[in-house]
Amino acid sequence: MGTRKKVHTFVRVKPTDDFAHEMIKYGDDNKSIDIHLKKDTRRGVVNNQQTDWSFKLDGVLHNASQDLVYETVAKDVVAQALDGYNGTIMCYGQTGAGKTYTMTGTTENYKHRGILPRALQQVFRMIEERPTHAITVRVSYLEIYNESLFDLLSTLPYVGPSVTPMTIVENPQGVFIKGLSVHLTSQEEDAFSLLFEGETNRIIASHTMNKNSSRSHCIFTIYVEAHSRTLSDEKYITSKINLVDLAGSERLGKSGSEGRVLKEATYINKSLSFLEQAIIALGDQKREHIPFRQCKLTHALKDSLGGNCNMVLLTNIYGEAAQLEETLSSLRFASRMKLVTTEPAINEKYDAERMVKNLEKELALLKQELAIHDSLANRTLVNYDPMDEIQIAEINSQVRRYLEGTLDEIDIINLRQIQEVFNQFRVVLSQQEQEVESALRRKYTLIDKNDFAAISAVQKAGLVDVDGHLVGEPDGQGFGLGVTPFSAKPGKKSKSKKTFKEQLSSSARKEGASSPVSGKELDVSTSKTQLTPSSKEGDVKDMTIREQETSSLEPLPSDSPKEELRPPRPSTPPPKPVAFEDFKNERGSEINRIFKENKSILNERRKRASETTQRINAIKREMDVTKEALNFQKSLREKQGEYENKGLMIIDEEEFLLILKLKDLKKQYRTEYQDLRDLRAEIQYCQHLVDQCRHRLLTEFDIWYNESFFIPEDLQVALKPGGSIRPGMVPVSRIMSLGEDAQDKFSQLQQVVLPEGPDSVAFYNAKVKTEQKHNYLKTMMGLQQAHRK
Ligand code: ADP
Ligand code: MG
Repeated sequence: MGTRKKVHTFVRVKPTDDFAHEMIKYGDDNKSIDIHLKKDTRRGVVNNQQTDWSFKLDGVLHNASQDLVYETVAKDVVAQALDGYNGTIMCYGQTGAGKTYTMTGTTENYKHRGILPRALQQVFRMIEERPTHAITVRVSYLEIYNESLFDLLSTLPYVGPSVTPMTIVENPQGVFIKGLSVHLTSQEEDAFSLLFEGETNRIIASHTMNKNSSRSHCIFTIYVEAHSRTLSDEKYITSKINLVDLAGSERLGKSGSEGRVLKEATYINKSLSFLEQAIIALGDQKREHIPFRQCKLTHALKDSLGGNCNMVLLTNIYGEAAQLEETLSSLRFASRMKLVTTEPAINEKYDAERMVKNLEKELALLKQELAIHDSLANRTLVNYDPMDEIQIAEINSQVRRYLEGTLDEIDIINLRQIQEVFNQFRVVLSQQEQEVESALRRKYTLIDKNDFAAISAVQKAGLVDVDGHLVGEPDGQGFGLGVTPFSAKPGKKSKSKKTFKEQLSSSARKEGASSPVSGKELDVSTSKTQLTPSSKEGDVKDMTIREQETSSLEPLPSDSPKEELRPPRPSTPPPKPVAFEDFKNERGSEINRIFKENKSILNERRKRASETTQRINAIKREMDVTKEALNFQKSLREKQGEYENKGLMIIDEEEFLLILKLKDLKKQYRTEYQDLRDLRAEIQYCQHLVDQCRHRLLTEFDIWYNESFFIPEDLQVALKPGGSIRPGMVPVSRIMSLGEDAQDKFSQLQQVVLPEGPDSVAFYNAKVKTEQKHNYLKTMMGLQQAHRK
């Protein structure tokens, strides 16, 4: 396995009384054959100068018996087929040279039987010698005549005539012929009778269908499949032996062919030349594509030529001088075939049914083993079977309790349980995401960030203030701003100096929109210009209550920008670009200052680099001019004749000055170039710093933004280092209430103030929810109307 092997080539010389001793000579080792042509003996045959040829082969069979031929050519190939290697044996040569005799032999005389019956015998004998394996043998017999496929075993009563013509089909397992009958044979005798059936059909067809049996290619295939009788062995091997009797290879026109004969000859010549092309391609290691599909012969033999099989070519030749031309051409074919290498490999397969059975057995064994381990470790009642719905639901509830903080730990039981815990974490997480989203949808109108039409419609309608313009990026390297998810890191809250009114007016100045931020009103005084999805109509009362509630807790600050008091947290955050401006002026001021400083350094270096480049270019140009002038001087000097003084060249002053100038320029060039290189390194470094600062600025901003506008203040206290809530353990109910504190307070208010008693809470909660849904639908309708406008 894995080793490359050459195609084995043999020559069999047909016995004759008229052997051309002077022209055909064999090497001492019987592995080469030399052909010598007397130049004048056959006129017209040799039109080039060559008169001698030498062919190296694996063996020359002269006056060899059928027995010896089989031993030499086929025995190993057949033996290896039982170990799983595919094998192909082909007979090639001109008509009458003995191909059929070699392959099939005579059916009348047992002693003269050919490779086919002998191979079948060997297969069955070897099966008898291997009682450890259940080996099945199948055979098929295919004939290719004028590019049509014929099943030589189709006449068998149980086969029946085929309805559709046969086709060659390729699949991952290899090539097979659809429609070709394949026959299971359990003993030698059956196999022989199949062979004879085929042979007879071949001869009958030559009469009834008027086709010459030596004008077709015949492929007899023996399929072997060996399963071990040891049931635990899942592997089994398959192989096939192709025994090919090729059509006569003689050249067209030799006998003045016409009509049917001409047609046959054309097909044969074509298919043999395609076979040759495929073989040449196979012999060329650099070739990737092998033209197998050009004719039926090579296509049908695709996985039997070269590839992973053992391959033998037997060339049948005449030993007579009159046939030397064809003999030469046959030997040339053989020597080309000898170049082909194959890589024989065992065709190993897996018996799926056996494999499943074996795995089941092993599983049962391992379970028993586990049970023993558990009882030794005093663990009882551990179930290793797949979990049912109830067990999964229990794990889901554990995960929820763990997240809420009511369960400290989830006990580890076994691997399956651990996997299910992770699985349920994912389930809970995605449910929470959905809940958060739908809560947001109930409260806000969410618009797809990329849906510009919807955004502009909303803007036109004055419903939402969306703004995502490039902020604070004079050089155009902007960034998009969007609603930050609730998962943003908690931290300290900072104050805003500007009032929201100012922020709004500054945001109005900005162009573009990319943020899906949709806002409710920020401030009662600006509500005219603000979009208030749920307060436009029916909800006004509701909002008023909320505003009052808010203002009663935190009085509105005055309009003065110097006012140090924190402005009330709006129910909706200000647009990010506005907030970003603020951020840069206060908490982000230091980073922003460094950012700006680095950027100005970067710009200055860039400017210097560009100036240096210009200078370098100027110097380069001057150097070119000087060089040209020098060349001119030199040529002038050469024309006028040169002066030498004690071996030193005498040059005039002008040339001397030019040389000095060039030297000077070169020095300048080098200095400037070094400067440029330093500058470039510096620029790269500065660029890196600027990028870092930008990133830091944006990250800090995001954190600040979330802290300032999204996380409830009471929660912020808890989230502070040392607070009661660990990161990653924020209970769902908390997350749900983020950004909904006003709403929360309203519900609480209702629950406290309402006189009907605790039973009414569910009722009112339901009412609030219905109202929210109602408002959402109303807003959406408003949006659609605005869009239509
Ligand atoms: P091919 O198939 O190449 O056209 P055949 O095998 O039909 O040639 O051979 C033509 C004739 O020569 C047949 O009658 C065959 O019996 C005979 N023949 C060929 N080779 C031998 C051989 N080695 N010994 C005896 N007879 C042979
Ligand atoms: Mg023949």
